Amino acid sequence: MSAATAPLADLIVQRYQRLAARIELATEQAGRSRDSVCLLAVSKRHPVEAIRVLIDQGLSCFGENYLAEAQDKMAVLRAAQLTWHFIGSLQSNKTRAVSQQFDWVQSVDRARLVTRLDGHRPAHLPPLQVLIQVNLAGEPQKAGVAAEGVDALARLISDSDRLTLRGLMMIPPRADDPEDHRALYAQARQLFEKLADRYPEADTLSMGMSDDLEVAIDEGSTMIRVGTDLFGPRS
Ligand SMILES: *Cc1c(COP(=O)(O)O)cnc(C)c1O
Repeated sequence: MSAATAPLADLIVQRYQRLAARIELATEQAGRSRDSVCLLAVSKRHPVEAIRVLIDQGLSCFGENYLAEAQDKMAVLRAAQLTWHFIGSLQSNKTRAVSQQFDWVQSVDRARLVTRLDGHRPAHLPPLQVLIQVNLAGEPQKAGVAAEGVDALARLISDSDRLTLRGLMMIPPRADDPEDHRALYAQARQLFEKLADRYPEADTLSMGMSDDLEVAIDEGSTMIRVGTDLFGPRS
């Protein structure tokens, strides 16, 4: 590593260590095992060099929101055999490339996406791992299906040939106090548990970010998604 990039690397390692300590404490206080929560590093608008720092720390799951940007990183990092999650809003015309190149898609919220992702998933790859994005606060400007829509979408995903239904993802409304998210997270967990009863492969509840991961873990999150608190501010 060159001297110029060393300070950036040090900062990222420090942030990662702080975050790891928070996750450890949060799981302990929730009476859960540390390995019941995984960390998705959200690398959108951060460079490959920053991702490499976290690979060296043992991280292997990265989340991206923009297809073209993700494709560039995947090409450079192919040898690292990372697990890539698409977490951004997904347009129908991007479903082919996303289905061919990502391992997971967390932002599935309508039938048309299910059909297209399924149709485009190459036969030589394992099934695409899918989360249903839910919008439990009823925010009209945000993606995600309402609670009433989860059953039908789950059945469609489960009946697909090339998709595996792994659970739910949620982005809560902005709040000043992380406690404001608790009721929504509890609701997401109930919905998730009903889903997991019916679909044994549904083992993932993706909720919680930098500001509210303690509340999310306390309410049963199995995957937190963190960008800024790992990489720093986006350029
Ligand atoms: C960007 C993003 C994150 C990470 O946000 P930060 O504030 O940078 O931690 C998490 N989840 C989703 C769906 C995102 O788009």
